[in-house]
Amino acid sequence: MKVGFIGLGIMGKPMALNLIRAGYTLTVYDINPEPVEAVCAAGARRAASASEAARGNQVVITMLPNSPHVKAAVLDEGGVLEGATPGTILIDMSSIAPLASKEIAEACAKKGVRMLDAPVSGGEPKAIDGTLSIMAGGAREDFERVYDLLLKMGASAVLCGDVGAGNTTKLANQIIVALNIAAMSEALTLGTMAGVDPESIFRAIRGGLAGSTVLDAKAPMVMSGNFKPGFKIDLHIKDLNNALDTGHAVGAPLPLTAYAMEILERLRADGHGQLDHSAIVKYYEKLADVEVRAADRK
Ligand code: NAD
Repeated sequence: MKVGFIGLGIMGKPMALNLIRAGYTLTVYDINPEPVEAVCAAGARRAASASEAARGNQVVITMLPNSPHVKAAVLDEGGVLEGATPGTILIDMSSIAPLASKEIAEACAKKGVRMLDAPVSGGEPKAIDGTLSIMAGGAREDFERVYDLLLKMGASAVLCGDVGAGNTTKLANQIIVALNIAAMSEALTLGTMAGVDPESIFRAIRGGLAGSTVLDAKAPMVMSGNFKPGFKIDLHIKDLNNALDTGHAVGAPLPLTAYAMEILERLRADGHGQLDHSAIVKYYEKLADVEVRAADRK
């Protein structure tokens, strides 16, 4: 199967490399030439535009930052719709607003191009391992046609509904992750202020009801003061913005998301936008004038 791949950033580059390794013929495009070099060295063909990346391919994948970037790469002059032929399946794997996915899918449909939104969870390590969790929206027949290809990038791919359902699911994921990190930060700050080593709290509770994948991944980062991103605060602000917009559009109340958004905005104003989202703890550290670290790492 011939595949066009647009957007070779932290996530897109390892995902494209996994498709090449699995034997797919890739044509790639990014506005930044650097990752294009690396993926072409692994066997991909270089395209000079998004339309060229789409031309002659049965599937086109986009992995871009947010809704405006996907709209530009698909709908603008020199975009995917200029090069794609009827029957092509566009899989947008970026995390964008569900309403934007629907708008893009409508424009695609006018040209006979099919679209799935299929954002991912798991971050760079799972993009490299090909073990992402993929949440998709679109027609079942399209999903089934590309299911094997999705499983070259992910450990699971679940069809959640019509176009936009993938991104709605991703927003649900991002709400749960942000609120989990905030709850963990609040709890570990309490422990520190009360004189209990946060490391002991973590070890004692991680196997109980409060245990979670988020706790296991982020508590060690907090306790060692390592905020090297993984997933940046700036990107989480983008996702919670999309969640709040979507909540307003469909009438869903999101009071905790709104509060988490204020925390993240405060952290960005303090210059922490490029840190990992585990740096939410820094908001609490500032409020309590304390540093939340394991006792042996202070
Ligand atoms: P990134 O900023 O590293 O990569 C985006 C790439 O898109 C860049 O290489 C950029 O040059 C390119 N680009 C931007 N506009 C373009 C255009 N018009 N045409 C062609 N290329 C263009 O971002 P990322 O971390 O790879 O994230 C991509 C998406 O995946 C985002 O929506 C993000 O929220 C989501 N995501 C990221 C992670 C993570 O841990 N980084 C995890 C899950 C989901």
